[in-house]
Amino acid sequence: MKIITKEIIISTEGNCDIINITENVQEILRAGKLKEGNCCVFSIGSTASITTIEYEPGLIKDIPKILDKLIPVYSRYNHNDTWGDNNGHSHIRSAMIGTSFNVPFVKNELILGTWQQIVLIDFDNRRRDRRIIVQLTGE
Ligand code: ZN
Repeated sequence: MKIITKEIIISTEGNCDIINITENVQEILRAGKLKEGNCCVFSIGSTASITTIEYEPGLIKDIPKILDKLIPVYSRYNHNDTWGDNNGHSHIRSAMIGTSFNVPFVKNELILGTWQQIVLIDFDNRRRDRRIIVQLTGE
């Protein structure tokens, strides 16, 4: 059993910017040359998420629209009173969607559906350079 840990930096626009990072993860998997195991993709920080969607223009619009209804940007959050950084909504969105995604791999290929991509969603209210950890566990 081997563990390989790599980091990628992704620049985002914030404000629900959705970025397809599938190819970045696949590159790390190919270079690691492990045949079978698990791949964990983790975003450092508490205002972004890693999840999976079909990365197509419709959903890229639908997801921010639905989140604006469920967890509105302009609402009263106690977090904003604490720090004055006005990103209470970003923390709650990140907590609900989660900051990591696990996908198994076999024959050095991620087991993803044809229309299933791994995405980083940055919920913060400003541009960020996001540190994403990709950890492979397997042999
Ligand atoms: Zn904050």
